[in-house]
Amino acid sequence: MKPLERLQAKLAEDGLEALLVTDIANVRWLTGFTGSAGTMLAAPDRACFFTDGRYTIQAGEQVGSLMEVRTTTTEAPLAAQVAELAGQWGLSSIAFDGDAVTVNTYRQWTEKIPGVELKPVQDPCAVLRMVKTPEEVAKIRDACRLTDAAFQHVLRLIQPGVAEYDIHLEIEFFLKRQGAELAFDPIVVSGARSALPHGKASEKKLEIGDFVTMDFGAKLDGWCADLTRTVAVGRADDRMREVYGQVLEAQRAAIDALRPGANGKDVDTLAREVLARKDLARYFTHGLGHGLGTVVHDHGRLSQTADMRIECGQVWTVEPGVYLEGFGGVRIEDDVWVTEDGPVILNEAPKELLILP
Ligand code: ZN
Ligand code: ZN
Repeated sequence: MKPLERLQAKLAEDGLEALLVTDIANVRWLTGFTGSAGTMLAAPDRACFFTDGRYTIQAGEQVGSLMEVRTTTTEAPLAAQVAELAGQWGLSSIAFDGDAVTVNTYRQWTEKIPGVELKPVQDPCAVLRMVKTPEEVAKIRDACRLTDAAFQHVLRLIQPGVAEYDIHLEIEFFLKRQGAELAFDPIVVSGARSALPHGKASEKKLEIGDFVTMDFGAKLDGWCADLTRTVAVGRADDRMREVYGQVLEAQRAAIDALRPGANGKDVDTLAREVLARKDLARYFTHGLGHGLGTVVHDHGRLSQTADMRIECGQVWTVEPGVYLEGFGGVRIEDDVWVTEDGPVILNEAPKELLILP
């Protein structure tokens, strides 16, 4: 089933007359529209797309075969056109994603769409988007392949004297030269700075004995990859090897547990238990992973608060990390597709500790 058909079936199932989809990632997923301004009104048996004059032609090409495309103008803004359609379609209520609409927009709507109940709901697309079609997984895999290639490419830069900035720029340059966007601003941190889970690349130069953590991903044809690798510069002492080895063991155990029917919280707990064997669990200061899709932090978390059933077709990141202040940190992240036959790792970058150059 196509995304729009899946949403329409869910609207019928949830007893919603219509949904106003404003989140642009949802709009793209539902319609294929790649512009920056688009809204969709969907009912179980019909849908209409709205954009502004900048995108009328593009929307006609990308969305026109799926549904009616309307252009909003100053004289006929979105709310007025939605009100008109609500009349034509006989709607008494319209749902919207309460997380995606500001108070001001909501006020405007209540004024301009009179006689229709506006209902904030949990985004129905978020849960649907978690389960990927084989075609969508193939696109994520393509993004992963390119991300792997970028990783292999920057390994040659890992040597004393090279700045974190240089690596950051080279990752960006490589991905963009291949026609991709960045799924997010890459993280490159080294030495003691590698203890900053989301540190920004700086002018710091790599030194012998540093860990270097690189976290980045390509966004290709709208789909994201998200990869983290930590490597060592020149040498790795026993403590570095111990920490790295334990993070890797935790990551492998968690990936193996990502099977249909598992609980997201239990998978997170499993990784913490492996780290606890070397008294490292308390330095793992974030969740184990997140859903991955058209946005890098897609719906769903693997964490201590994530009471969520793992389903076939979902794609998760698995990224345990240990961060020791003054010493450095290690994070290892892969993108994992949940299938009937078990977890499938979509990226192929090596995971044994690389000591470079
Ligand atoms: Zn990442
Ligand atoms: Zn991630």
